Amino acid sequence: MAWSVLKQISRVGIASEPAPDIGEESAAEPARIQAELLSILGQALTIRQVDAGSCNGCELEINALGNPYYNLEGQGIRFVASPRHADLLLVTGPVSRNMEMALKRTYDATPEPKLVVTVGECACDGGLFGESYASCGRVANVIPVDEVVTGCPPEPIDIMRGILKAVRRRVVQSR
Ligand code: SF4
Repeated sequence: MAWSVLKQISRVGIASEPAPDIGEESAAEPARIQAELLSILGQALTIRQVDAGSCNGCELEINALGNPYYNLEGQGIRFVASPRHADLLLVTGPVSRNMEMALKRTYDATPEPKLVVTVGECACDGGLFGESYASCGRVANVIPVDEVVTGCPPEPIDIMRGILKAVRRRVVQSR
């Protein structure tokens, strides 16, 4: 059985397409952002992700930050389960009325100095859902926001850029 599988592998070879050529500069950008984040902070950055009512499209892109290409965790930038352990909240979705109180409590439970980055059109301006009896609209209607990452959904590299911008701005303010 194993022998026939090996024969099949050698006969077929690599069936997948080669990765697209995105250029040397783009390929190096994730590593550059990771290095700058670590040099600014001098320590790990911990992130609590909050889905306040998204369609999960933005979560798929956030999930990609953990793959070997973006490799956030490999650089010491970790997602944590509790806001009490977090430096930064990464919030998606329009804020559904059912999540309004939970989001406020999560924000209150995050220790100072905290950062909030919103991900996706819905979180930045309410997106398709806007404000209604079921939706509070954008995240900034509920908690203070430091940086927005637009797109529906945004690419992982844009999310990394947004995190870096928020951290840079906080460092400049604290000087
Ligand atoms: S921005 Fe787009 S992908 Fe993200 S939660 Fe809204 S509809 Fe979904």
